[in-house]
Amino acid sequence: MADEAPVARFREPDALAWRDPVLVVCPRCGACAIARETARGAARLTCPACALVRRWRGREAFPGDGEPDGPEGMDPRFGVPLWLRGECCGGRLLWAHNVAHLDYLESYVGATLRERPAPPSRLAWYLPRWMTAAKNRDEVVRTIARLRASLPEQPPGRGRTPGEGRRG
Ligand SMILES: [Zn+2]
Repeated sequence: MADEAPVARFREPDALAWRDPVLVVCPRCGACAIARETARGAARLTCPACALVRRWRGREAFPGDGEPDGPEGMDPRFGVPLWLRGECCGGRLLWAHNVAHLDYLESYVGATLRERPAPPSRLAWYLPRWMTAAKNRDEVVRTIARLRASLPEQPPGRGRTPGEGRRG
């Protein structure tokens, strides 16, 4: 399954903290693993719990320029669910790539609903309407708190994890 063509959806790689790394469910042991961009859109998944290392080769795998959409709440590169995902607001899926992303959602949804500020970052434009609707605010904030509570004590990606820094 690991070697099936991944469904890519990631747009231009960029340095924004909410995009990368991505916390995911380890496909081998179910622990919180980390998928991190390496170079030119390639990525590597590492699991601190079971030492799994998987690679995704990136754009070369997609000669076309298409950006097929992966299922929501997945890391399409590795075909694994995001760690930070949970049902919210009647069957919607709230998800975040990592702690920085979760922080962003929390501050945006929790604090700045009434007055939409000048675009605080590009991310705001990706937020679905249900997430920013005032009537959903409490539930969204609760779901974010629940996701935060699901994080391991030391989320991978804060500091080095086993397997990172190795090549080959
Ligand atoms: Zn694992």
